[in-house]
Amino acid sequence: MIRKREIHLILDGYARDGITIATMGSHTALQILKGARDEGFKSLVICKRGTEEVYQQFGVADELLIIENYEQFMEKKFLEKLIERNVILIPHGSFVEYLSPKRIENELLVPMLGNRMVLEWESDREKEREWMEHADLRLPKEFKDPEDIDRLVMVKFPGAKGGKGYFLAGNPEEFERKLKKSGLRDKDRFTIQEFVIGTRFYPHYFYSPLKNRLELLSMDIRYESNVDGLSRLPHVSQDGTPEPSFVVTGNIPVVARESLLNPILKMGQSVVKASQELFSPGLIGPFCIETICTEDLEFVVFEISARIVAGTNLYINGSPYSQLLYQEPMSTGRRISREIKDARREDSLDSVIY
Ligand code: AMP
Repeated sequence: MIRKREIHLILDGYARDGITIATMGSHTALQILKGARDEGFKSLVICKRGTEEVYQQFGVADELLIIENYEQFMEKKFLEKLIERNVILIPHGSFVEYLSPKRIENELLVPMLGNRMVLEWESDREKEREWMEHADLRLPKEFKDPEDIDRLVMVKFPGAKGGKGYFLAGNPEEFERKLKKSGLRDKDRFTIQEFVIGTRFYPHYFYSPLKNRLELLSMDIRYESNVDGLSRLPHVSQDGTPEPSFVVTGNIPVVARESLLNPILKMGQSVVKASQELFSPGLIGPFCIETICTEDLEFVVFEISARIVAGTNLYINGSPYSQLLYQEPMSTGRRISREIKDARREDSLDSVIY
């Protein structure tokens, strides 16, 4: 585990007026880079060869570095190149997936936004559940023994990319039949979770340790294939219902009923508080809680994403919520750079960078 002392030593050597905001070219990079520029920072994008064109096209980065493979990112020579440029890295979903949470925790010796311990709490299902329980959130019921299945459940597998391969079952027999049919999977490591019926909301929060304030910046609903396409199939043409899958293909903007904003803010606050109690200094910066709102207007939470999520790409120019908080277009990407800028001004970069 990289110690924060090592990172803060590197950070101490940085020229305060030469800081470069950098990220990997994927996921939410356009927004992060634009936000960095809007806040007056230099910006750098690191692309795996073949993915650079988008970043050249949109011209949001002052500099573009190409790597041949993700391994190269971790090489000492490459990390030194980043440090020479006074780089602060901004993690996003693909960044964490391609470099791996373990390697980011243990090898990525470059200043990065946020608390690295969060990676472990987010990527391990049991730890994540402990965190959510500690935050007193309502979670879907879990079934340890398939024999106990007494309602519609969703069967999840670790590492199932974008929910591909999950299946639904309504009773123990259906579970056994579908598990058998599913073939190759690691059969001992599935999670059987109550399938919650309601409407999904993915609120995007930002926690500022400098202001000790939680901000609700925006919200989205994920557009998922094939489940969102199945609803277009008239039942009459269905010859045996196809198994739904949940692969994210896009994002749809949403606002919640105004009376739901209070519980949405409360959930965010409890997640931050629990993170501070479980892994101090806890969550820093952007995160998202994946929820389903039932017909009783209760939120059931099935996941936390402890970093910027792709749904924020809808709001490069700000959202209905961010416009209430800021008199300027404030995306999550820009909010990240604003926090770094404020921290630099207050000489407290070491409270947001680890
Ligand atoms: P996950 O891999 O946990 O992010 O789940 C992928 C997708 O499956 C989500 O975006 C939801 O659409 C759906 N989903 C996950 N868990 C549940 C649940 N307990 N009940 C209903 N839908 C769920």
